Amino acid sequence: MKVMANDRYPSVPLPDISPVHLGRLAARLDGRLLMARDDGYDAARRVFNAMIDRHPALVVRCASAQDVVAGVRFARTHTLPLAVKGGGHGVAGNAVCDGGLLLDLSGMKEVSVDATRRVATVQPGLTLGELDLATEPFGLATPTGVVSVTGLSGLALGGGLGWLNGEHGLTCDNLLAAEVVTADGERITTSPGQHRDLFWGLRGGGGNFGVVISLALKLHPVGQVLAGGVTYPARKARAALRLYHEFASACPDPLSANASLFQTPDGDVAVSIGVCYAGPVENGDWLLRPLRRLGPEVDAIEPMSYRALQQAKDAGFPSGQQHYWKAGYLTALDDELIETMLDFVARMPSPASGVGLQQLHGAAGRVDATATAFPHRGDRYDCLILSQWPDPADAPQNIAWTRAMHAAITPFLADGVYVNNLGDPGEQGVNAAYGGNYARLAALKAEYDPTNLFRHNQNIAPASC
Ligand SMILES: Cc1cc2nc3c(=O)[nH]c(=O)nc-3n(C[C@H](O)[C@H](O)[C@H](O)COP(=O)(O)OP(=O)(O)OC[C@H]3O[C@@H](n4cnc5c(N)ncnc54)[C@H](O)[C@@H]3O)c2cc1C
Repeated sequence: MKVMANDRYPSVPLPDISPVHLGRLAARLDGRLLMARDDGYDAARRVFNAMIDRHPALVVRCASAQDVVAGVRFARTHTLPLAVKGGGHGVAGNAVCDGGLLLDLSGMKEVSVDATRRVATVQPGLTLGELDLATEPFGLATPTGVVSVTGLSGLALGGGLGWLNGEHGLTCDNLLAAEVVTADGERITTSPGQHRDLFWGLRGGGGNFGVVISLALKLHPVGQVLAGGVTYPARKARAALRLYHEFASACPDPLSANASLFQTPDGDVAVSIGVCYAGPVENGDWLLRPLRRLGPEVDAIEPMSYRALQQAKDAGFPSGQQHYWKAGYLTALDDELIETMLDFVARMPSPASGVGLQQLHGAAGRVDATATAFPHRGDRYDCLILSQWPDPADAPQNIAWTRAMHAAITPFLADGVYVNNLGDPGEQGVNAAYGGNYARLAALKAEYDPTNLFRHNQNIAPASC
């Protein structure tokens, strides 16, 4: 390979690696090796959060497991920083690095469904919607998140909280096995019977232990669901949030409820309660009566396919937006908290932003906190202050608002935070994300990645021996 001047991004340094070595890497790949001058480089380095604008020196657009092995070994040999991109939806932007080598897995989209064993085996570049598309014809699904364009592998490795968690747990609870490329460039399979410790760590511990090249996920029969949302106007917002807590606390496993606080086009604050009832549709109306009794302004709950529900929120998260998030868990919604939240949402600088409460309960809540690396169990709400806005110049007021709201609700938050909602939290934030499981994860990191090759993530530092 001939290394040419990098005229597209003159400030991106070319790697200090001989063209011979680069040529050998390129020749070994089923996919492509890209540098800043190449077509496809920009698409590969871009992530969902448009605030993140990093420029890796090299991109391996992986087309096969072998490409992942070659990329890991190359980064290690040449001591290059290494970033791993699944779907690129992580708000922190850890999927891409400045300088160094980016392993872009987003083109690895194979999926196979074994309907008899009820297992989907997927490559790491899949989105949630692409997985649903593959499993729907069999009347099967696995629990994931609530926006279908989101990348699957980062979501699954961090936890995976979505509509089916009450009945079937988190995505990581449905992981049956995973194939991983380790820091040594070896391929190993982890499952309850093989490398059990690593299998434990992958279920919540993110990309700290290696590059996951294949995930086997348990599928469940999921057909029509009774789902959608009801929306209450500003004058009923307080009552709606009180009702939400009462309603969610009483949800049976097949029913999950989320709430969101947002601004209407007129600038008023509104509250919507979204539901998914995955039990027999004919029983659902009875369960949903409390929501209707409060007199919503909009009632858009109806029978629909699970896949349609998964896609229903996609339009609210267009690509190309700047994102800044802060999050925490709530176990109750008392009146002072409700007032605080409504007050902040009324002053939200960007009408595209909002506050979401995502319910974790039932099967997801009953898993022991130490059974997987994801420790936040028991009934709770994942409270996410999600700021998004189009113009980079508006960052200061949006960031300030998000931080101020988070500070104001902090006295009401339970311990811990969902790792996949973290921006750039530093070690303290990662500690909070893993709580009592942190020490075990650090020991596992020391075993599988003692030099911290995989550090572009919510990083768990290897325990010192
Ligand atoms: C619009 C939107 C909606 C969301 N909704 C939900 C939701 O309902 N529920 C929920 O739980 N989460 C939700 N999330 C958060 C989501 O879980 C994270 O953004 C997650 O990181 C997405 O996975 P990804 O593959 O796109 O991550 P990426 O950004 O690609 O990666 C995130 C981290 O994981 C690592 N990683 C990714 N893939 C691999 C791999 N194969 N091997 C090793 N490391 C890897 C990366 O290196 C990086 O450190 C949402 C996010 C967005 C943007």
